[in-house]
Amino acid sequence: MKRFDIIVGDITRSDAEAIVNAANTSLLGGSGVDGAIHRAAGRSLLEECRTLGGCETGKAKLTKGYDLPAKYVIHTPGPIWQGGGLGEPALLASCYRSCLSLAAANNIESVDFPSISTGIYGYPLPQAATVALRAMMDWLAEHELPRRVRMVCHTEATAAVYRQTWNLWYAEEKAERI
Ligand code: ADP
Repeated sequence: MKRFDIIVGDITRSDAEAIVNAANTSLLGGSGVDGAIHRAAGRSLLEECRTLGGCETGKAKLTKGYDLPAKYVIHTPGPIWQGGGLGEPALLASCYRSCLSLAAANNIESVDFPSISTGIYGYPLPQAATVALRAMMDWLAEHELPRRVRMVCHTEATAAVYRQTWNLWYAEEKAERI
């Protein structure tokens, strides 16, 4: 089993123990992957989310997965891209770290991520891929859990950017560390 992989798919059908939701700070649902996750999980997810009091950008909160194949959903609001000078890279890295940390703290073995912030929130994909891969590889190099992490891209074009970034920057340097 590969410890890290980049795949194309619909994250609502993921067989991972936890999937990550690119949420907004209200945690009350939205469009894009957030809407798809809420639709697939059913009303109970929204009811649990209502009890959480929202979530700050870059942080993460855990719920059950309800009607999803995944047992858990880890909700993280990504930064809205405003040109890159307002701390967006640090906030995006924090999303990935917060989700992985929450997963490890709950003994979650496998986590699937969507491409956080690169849809409606407008984060340029190549830059987001660099931040995301670095944050995930740094975590995996230093922690045993989760044992499997995947980037689930909705389109082949998105996956191509992640794979290209991986090949350019990370394959040689980091693969040996995980
Ligand atoms: P954000 O508001 O964080 O930008 P979006 O949901 O608009 O979040 O987009 C984040 C990424 O999730 C985009 O690359 C989008 O194509 C992708 N996405 C949308 N639906 C799904 C899905 N069902 N599975 C996986 N990725 C998805």
